[in-house]
Amino acid sequence: VQMTDMPQMVAIYNGMGGGAAGAIAAVVLLRGEYGDDLGLKFLAILGGLIGSVAFSGSIVAFAKLQGLMTGRPIQFPGQKILNVLVLVAALGLVVALLPQESPLLILVFFVVVLSFGVLMTLPIGGGDMPVAVSLFNALTGLAVGFEGFAIGNAALIVAGTVVGAAGTLLTLLMAKAMNRSLWSVLVGGFGVEQETAQIKGSIRSIDLEDAVVMLGYASRVIFVPGYGMAVAQAQHKLREVADVLESKGIRVDYAIHPVAGRMPGHMNVLLAEAGVAYEKLHDLEDINPDFPQADVAVVIGANDVVNPAAHRKGSPLYGMPILDVDKAKNAIVIKRGQGKGFAGVENELFFADNTRMLYGDAQSVLGQLVQSLKKL
Ligand code: NDP
Repeated sequence: VQMTDMPQMVAIYNGMGGGAAGAIAAVVLLRGEYGDDLGLKFLAILGGLIGSVAFSGSIVAFAKLQGLMTGRPIQFPGQKILNVLVLVAALGLVVALLPQESPLLILVFFVVVLSFGVLMTLPIGGGDMPVAVSLFNALTGLAVGFEGFAIGNAALIVAGTVVGAAGTLLTLLMAKAMNRSLWSVLVGGFGVEQETAQIKGSIRSIDLEDAVVMLGYASRVIFVPGYGMAVAQAQHKLREVADVLESKGIRVDYAIHPVAGRMPGHMNVLLAEAGVAYEKLHDLEDINPDFPQADVAVVIGANDVVNPAAHRKGSPLYGMPILDVDKAKNAIVIKRGQGKGFAGVENELFFADNTRMLYGDAQSVLGQLVQSLKKL
């Protein structure tokens, strides 16, 4: 599996874990394996609910990430009310199932909770998918832990609790990094507004020679890698460009957005693989105040994480913290063409007066930059 396809693989694995927990719950409930212990039955039902939601939700997340369906939010009138009603129905069925042993009720319960997983994931927009996938991971862990109690299996309890706890922490950190409340992701409130603003300005490109001069005579350069760097596997060439610039006495830093790429830590892993020193990687809060001092910020295949539209109410990205490339003295954006980012939103940075586009595959453009910079 390609590194860039990891999120969908993680999503499908989460789904399998949740589905397995749901299946254990179904067997326990149908066979009545809890005896007279209503506490155990309650845990089995709860695990069944959480696991099934994680299963069907992860399948939708997988389909969105894999491009099998649109990655944009899917909305319809009355959606939030329907979601809340289905959730209330699911909780009502938990209570209704406790004193009963009806296979029909068990079937209805699973249909309702599986539907809830689908319904809650449909309106989640592309930019918020990392939080959703992480949440399903946490839910899967919890569900497995509950089923471990229900069938008296210590291994499931331990494994499930560890995954549930770690997953919950990761989810909270991701939600904080994206400036989203977990509740708003759950009820599908984000990434759903329609674009209304007309972007002013025009997109201007720069040729390689001019980019070389701009970089070669800078005193400070900040690189901003994104998903496109991962696609192009351009991390080694990026390191070579940085080496040449540093040999000319230019200060080089790397700005890492928490959701750049397609998995948490994606950019850190790739840059570490290319041998970039850890101290040169800076996270959002640390590097943002430095952009105004940067002569050039070079964006390598990043899009959503540098989109100033995130500051504007009404944008699907509104509220997401971004790397302030628009505040740098000059910005060069390396990408292949007019492709949008994962969230499908036009990027206002590309229209800014001090931004120039350097078109091409990131690896080949950076390769040419290395050669030309060496000759400068
Ligand atoms: P984006 O997905 O926003 O943009 C990537 C850009 O890379 C595209 O606009 C594309 O433009 C360009 N590109 C693609 N291939 C190449 C190439 N070979 N050479 C040069 N450029 C290329 O990336 P970001 O990293 O900015 O943002 C990540 C997005 O993914 C966020 O919305 C985030 O929420 C989401 N996400 C993140 C996850 C995580 O855990 N990190 C998980 C799931 C989703 P063009 O086609 O014109 O080249």
